[in-house]
Amino acid sequence: MLKKTNLRMTRQRKIILEELRKVNIHPSADEVYDMVRKRLPRISLGTVYRNLEILSKSGEIQKLEPGCTLKRFDGNPHEHYHIRCIQCDRVVDAHIVNEISFEDLLNETSDFKIIGHKLEFIGLCSECDVDSSPA
Ligand SMILES: [Zn+2]
Ligand SMILES: [Zn+2]
Repeated sequence: MLKKTNLRMTRQRKIILEELRKVNIHPSADEVYDMVRKRLPRISLGTVYRNLEILSKSGEIQKLEPGCTLKRFDGNPHEHYHIRCIQCDRVVDAHIVNEISFEDLLNETSDFKIIGHKLEFIGLCSECDVDSSPA
């Protein structure tokens, strides 16, 4: 199942992956550390960082580098878009279907060989949008 044959799935890495796939909050490395520590009390933050990098390089997870300073991780390795709250940095999945292929379009209209794209929506979440009165 792994793309790289020499990638050994250690127990720690497996638990990090399991915990990350359980949630949909796109946690930062520190938040992953807190989640994983419940099962691996002796794990270090450095180990969590290192394993998150390995997992994202191997395509098991996604590393999100949105406009904010904090790197976030996504247990869903499939291409999808995100909405980020500009106030509290909360990141949620954007449930839209990609109707057009930006890559195909730009391969035709530019002289670049397009290999992918990054798209991030920004806004205010319901907690930060003070103007939206609660129902
Ligand atoms: Zn917010
Ligand atoms: Zn996501």
